[in-house]
Amino acid sequence: MVRFATLGFLSSAAAAKGQNQMKTIGMLGGMSWESTSTYYRAVNEGIKEALGGLHSAKISMVSVDFDELERLQHADDWNSIAVILSTAARNVQAGGADFLMICTNTMHRVAPQIEAAVTIPLLHIADATAQQLLKDGIRRVGLLGTRFTMEQDFYKARLEEEFHIEVLIPELEDRDLVHEVIYQELCLSKIEASSRSSYLQIIEKLSARGAEAVILGCTEIALLVQQNLTSVPLYDTTAIHAEQAVVRALSK
Ligand code: GLU
Repeated sequence: MVRFATLGFLSSAAAAKGQNQMKTIGMLGGMSWESTSTYYRAVNEGIKEALGGLHSAKISMVSVDFDELERLQHADDWNSIAVILSTAARNVQAGGADFLMICTNTMHRVAPQIEAAVTIPLLHIADATAQQLLKDGIRRVGLLGTRFTMEQDFYKARLEEEFHIEVLIPELEDRDLVHEVIYQELCLSKIEASSRSSYLQIIEKLSARGAEAVILGCTEIALLVQQNLTSVPLYDTTAIHAEQAVVRALSK
């Protein structure tokens, strides 16, 4: 369960409750459905915590078939991915969404194309995470995610250039392990103790290299490692993104 540590938006929440102004959260999900189900629970818990009673989140969601998209990722065909996800995003908007979340870090690789396909604003997962890191005074961070997220510029460079947060990524062999576990296990609902201890070792190595915290920059990683297993502060992008969505849904 995702806890909402800072409910600084309660006055907006009260206003939303009184005037039924809650916004509809747009979710582009299914990448994988495992993490989308975490998002679905998290935003509903956040709305319930803020508004009480039988309140639940207003959501417009399109959930895609990940098999097809994963093949395109590994074939480096990001243009086809952009076309499929842009169509899906337009359908999210047509379902009444006031803003859009892409419920995966990796697919933010095509965020500019998706953003261009809709008129509603995008709640970018890296921006939400960076804002939380800066709020906590963290300037040097480790990043775990798919190889695409760890190695390509769409994520790392955004943190570095727009938020001035230094990003450390694992060594090559460790990146391969992190990537394989995501696709071969976590997205397939497999939680393995050996993978958990490998991840924890990789987190320790990032900390030893100077990372003040580690971003769980893949929306399934929190299924495997949680904060109580390490003293290194972890930033779970799914929880942070969902919390920001609740704040936005309740803001004016
Ligand atoms: N959910 C993952 C992420 O946050 C990986 C799946 C994907 O490639 O979209 O990056």
